[in-house]
Amino acid sequence: MVQDPFGDLRELYQEVILDHGKHPRNHRHPPDASHEARGDNPLCGDRITVYMRMGASGIIEDVAFEGRGCAISTASASLMTEVIKGKNESEARALFECFHDMCTKDDADPHAHGPVDEDALDRLAVLAGVREFPVRVKCATLAWHTLAAAMTGGLKASTE
Ligand code: ZN
Repeated sequence: MVQDPFGDLRELYQEVILDHGKHPRNHRHPPDASHEARGDNPLCGDRITVYMRMGASGIIEDVAFEGRGCAISTASASLMTEVIKGKNESEARALFECFHDMCTKDDADPHAHGPVDEDALDRLAVLAGVREFPVRVKCATLAWHTLAAAMTGGLKASTE
């Protein structure tokens, strides 16, 4: 019998995704949000609103979300809010670029977009398995597209 050397790791990843999917962190509507955007992934039915409060120094002081979606989209939004807080806009965008690569490329280079928080990338790696399921890539990246729209000042993001 051939053992899958990554079997245990996959199981662990699955657990993290299920935990964040069932008990999303920062699932709330902060009354003092300075930016927000809505995201829509019609392919799966995921809908999300991302809220953030950008401080005067350009630091993302708070980030939260509301919405409904599959476990992947909810877990991704939950993880995103945990790793994005305390970053500035360019750090957040670099992280998004790296995460997007991770979800779409087999040989993603974590340094392709300048300096990036590697601990945060490690945490986001639990979602990299969507690479094998192109439809799921949209679920995993919806929150990030929506965050980017909120930072740009747009009100809507769609995966379509
Ligand atoms: Zn989905």
